[in-house]
Amino acid sequence: MLTMTSQDLMALEDKHGAHNYHPLPVVLAKGDGVYVWDVEGKRYYDFLSAYSAVNQGHCHPRIINALKDQAETLTLTSRAFYNDQLGEYEQFATEYFGFDKLLPMNTGAEAVETAIKLCRKWAYEKKGIAEEQAQIIVCSNNFHGRTTTIISFSNDPDARKNFGPYTPGFVKVEYDNLEALEAAIQENDNIAGFLVEPIQGEAGVYTPADDYMSKAKAICEKYGVLFIADEIQTGIARTGALLAVCGNCTCAGHCEQQEATYTRPDILILGKALSGGVYPVSAVLADDHIIEVIKPGQHGSTFGGNPLAAAVATAALNVVKDEKLAQNARKLGQRFRAEMQKLVDESDLLTLVRGRGLLNAVVINDTPDSSTAWDICLKLRDHGLLAKPTHGNIIRFAPPLVMTEEQLMDCVGIIRKTILEF
Ligand SMILES: *Cc1c(COP(=O)(O)O)cnc(C)c1O
Repeated sequence: MLTMTSQDLMALEDKHGAHNYHPLPVVLAKGDGVYVWDVEGKRYYDFLSAYSAVNQGHCHPRIINALKDQAETLTLTSRAFYNDQLGEYEQFATEYFGFDKLLPMNTGAEAVETAIKLCRKWAYEKKGIAEEQAQIIVCSNNFHGRTTTIISFSNDPDARKNFGPYTPGFVKVEYDNLEALEAAIQENDNIAGFLVEPIQGEAGVYTPADDYMSKAKAICEKYGVLFIADEIQTGIARTGALLAVCGNCTCAGHCEQQEATYTRPDILILGKALSGGVYPVSAVLADDHIIEVIKPGQHGSTFGGNPLAAAVATAALNVVKDEKLAQNARKLGQRFRAEMQKLVDESDLLTLVRGRGLLNAVVINDTPDSSTAWDICLKLRDHGLLAKPTHGNIIRFAPPLVMTEEQLMDCVGIIRKTILEF
């Protein structure tokens, strides 16, 4: 039998696959918890977690069992019929996050598109904005996915250039700038919503001022603008709380104590870790007075709300709660940033560390077009840890949340050793 090496497999992708990614040269064949293994059997710590989709760790047995059981029973009916999993999942998830209703989709970008459509329709039917005039405020350096509409309001040239004509209806303001947000709303009578990431993950883990979310929400409320939180990357315990908008509350699930620090979105967008990285599952949550504007036939998806997705997402959310992943992310995150800060103080190579919970990044002391961050990631790989640069000179560190403190310190050792070698 012919066994393919990593080199062979990379060559195959290179030859037969579109070149829309630039992967780190490592070919993974197996995952378990915080670890992944390459084709040759070498083990690595996963410090990307599939962009925070694998918060619950690779191949979590409870999620995989839910997948297997449901896969053997019923996978897809389409929404032309009811299925016996969706209602229970919707009840569970809406109670878990504290909203009246949920609209199920598959990928993150689809959920963002859904939120945009929901916001626009609400604007025409509830707020009374004239037809075709609704505008949604977005932030500079946002990342909300890859559809034609979503890249229309990106300012990343790679994401945007030569994909026009672009979808109109979006106004851009500076991130973490409350004056700019309020001014944009005051200048335009047709603002329907404000779409924002509580932390800008893809942009390089930009962490805004502590009160940015709550004050932005207050501004939105003052002007009758929907506050739409894209928690696809920051949600589901990643930042040391169930949602990044939960603030300091670490309990998994909607709770009473939460109210003190919680900035409640009008529309909440979830994806990625909603399934623990096992299956594409995304969702938009909102209360009745908003979500009721969507009527039968006006929005949908063949796979959205399928029984397999419902079973997987329920298991994935139960794992987050039962294994107290938010609490663990908070504790380990504090330790990690403290250790990285020591390294920043010691090494000229690192400019700073920032983040919340286990969504962190270090900025490399070099220009964004330098290869330094990439070279560091190659060395980290050689030492058994996988991370990826974002925007040239930033390295995001986001391990699965099931990590132990001992494993984290092992990883800190690898990062230390690698940085000090340069
Ligand atoms: C990943 C991501 C998306 C897009 O999700 P896909 O599943 O890749 O379509 C949208 N918003 C944010 C904040 C993300 O991190």
